[in-house]
Amino acid sequence: MPRSPETRAAIGRRAGSTLILALSAALVLATPAASAWADGPADCSLAQTAEPPFVGERAPAADLGPPFGFTPWTGDRQELLRRVVEVVAQQAAELGAPSCFQRKPEALAARVDFLSPFDFLVLTYYDSEPATRDALLQAYGRDPRQAIRDLSPIYPSPRADMILATVAYYDLDSDRIRVNRGKLSEADAPRVLVHEFWHAMPLTRVWTQPDGTIYRASGFWTQQRRGDGRIWQAVDGPTGLPFPPYLFDEAMATMMEVRFAGPLPYARRDLDQAVVFMTRLTDLAAPGEIIQLYLESRPLDFYNLLASHRDELS
Ligand SMILES: [Zn+2]
Repeated sequence: MPRSPETRAAIGRRAGSTLILALSAALVLATPAASAWADGPADCSLAQTAEPPFVGERAPAADLGPPFGFTPWTGDRQELLRRVVEVVAQQAAELGAPSCFQRKPEALAARVDFLSPFDFLVLTYYDSEPATRDALLQAYGRDPRQAIRDLSPIYPSPRADMILATVAYYDLDSDRIRVNRGKLSEADAPRVLVHEFWHAMPLTRVWTQPDGTIYRASGFWTQQRRGDGRIWQAVDGPTGLPFPPYLFDEAMATMMEVRFAGPLPYARRDLDQAVVFMTRLTDLAAPGEIIQLYLESRPLDFYNLLASHRDELS
């Protein structure tokens, strides 16, 4: 599965104290400029992807009611993206990332889709059924109320509800950031976008094993695809990991969000623990090593690093 909105929804954005998280994030990210980057990757540009289905900008429609209604934002969308690009590029520079990664946020800004809740749900739910997806997207353009009624096979349902409760996520397949305009408030948009940009920052590494299984890695997590299958499945990683692999990526993106915008407006115990763990590992690793392994999508080297410090971390 791609880094799914189900995961993001499970992560939730619940209220609570995040003092530990804020402190540990500050420690992790106080890492001096990296000396580990002997030289940057030759290319960390965005993946060439097929054209995403055309959605276009939908008119806000508060009268559709929750969860499909959404109201206009007052601020300038381009100004918002400019600010996020500036923040992420600055963070990358402070961490000593090669210039290739410092330029990447600008390219990412063109890949942020501000979607109506309907489009957000349909693009996500029908990711592997393009004909159904496109028919529903077109139906919404003609008559939103009728299109919502056309969703009856999938909405309401636990999965659809989880997707609609998600504010935003980075979709690895399309290499785009999807924003749910029905769920994300304008006030939260900068911090959420900084978070999602950091999910999108690693270069995607793809390789094929001798048995024909194709793997791809983004940050510290890995997916596999067998034969001519279209569906990517998450790889659990070696046994003995203290957290599921996606949580290491979640910790990285969260630390950058907190560095920019302060403590999270919710508490999540396993994420807090992952951040504390990453802090300890960062202290043990060479300066800049963790962020380099993350941006270069080298999960195996990361797991080896964990293993080499197992005694100190336990
Ligand atoms: Zn995340």
